[in-house]
Amino acid sequence: MSVNKARQLMIEKIAENVRVECNVTDYGFHNLFEATEKAGYRVIRYPIGSESFLGFALLKDTDRIIFSNSSLILAREIFSVAHEIGHQKLHLSEQGITIIRDDDFKDRDENEIEANYFAACLLMPEDKVNKFIRLELDGKSIDDWNGLDIARIQTAFNVSYDMAVIRLKALHIIPVSVLEDLRLEKLEKTTAKLLKAIKGNADLCQPAEAKKIPAEYLEWVIFNYQEKLIPKKSLETALSYVDLNAEDFETQQEEMDEDKSFDDLLKGMMD
Ligand SMILES: [Zn+2]
Repeated sequence: MSVNKARQLMIEKIAENVRVECNVTDYGFHNLFEATEKAGYRVIRYPIGSESFLGFALLKDTDRIIFSNSSLILAREIFSVAHEIGHQKLHLSEQGITIIRDDDFKDRDENEIEANYFAACLLMPEDKVNKFIRLELDGKSIDDWNGLDIARIQTAFNVSYDMAVIRLKALHIIPVSVLEDLRLEKLEKTTAKLLKAIKGNADLCQPAEAKKIPAEYLEWVIFNYQEKLIPKKSLETALSYVDLNAEDFETQQEEMDEDKSFDDLLKGMMD
């Protein structure tokens, strides 16, 4: 961890404040996407393909926008949103950087390490992890842990198997030897089977493919269409994401020639 101790504590506090603000009294967030909106962010979820980028944090005028790629398995998408909240809280400002896009989370850049650390503190705070082990795993000795225990932790905190294991290692709860055993066990049994075995949240291993666009953003698209600033095709594309019809918002106007796609609109937001 190259983030210095004082900064690390500060990040931990900010993450804790977000949990308090979102009223998270349980181990994990029941629904991080809704909580993020309640915390004042505009959340856009769209399945742009598993090979595409993971998400971005954007400051546009007074809007704080978080985009997440819902083609990722749900547990990873949840991590993406937590990571982007980290960028919003720690790195974006009106005067400085207004957008950070993530192609992967392996970047060793200081901001990326910080956003990952923020996400870990937000999703799996140290005190809650210890509480879970004490109360839900009955203080079971680490040597007796198996993949099912990790699946239980995954379900309580709504995180991926890998994130759970990495966080437990970072908190010095499990040693490297156990970490490797647990990783091997995952390869052998697959997380989905482990989650099913404990009747846990198997949705975590599937992409949600969610198409979620904030109402304000749709209103903005409809307004632009009615003001003849964008062609009908863009309106149709934007509305089709949320299963609405362009006809419902039709005004008598001539078709525009310009062939702007919804992707261009998204890009437009990022400029
Ligand atoms: Zn990042």
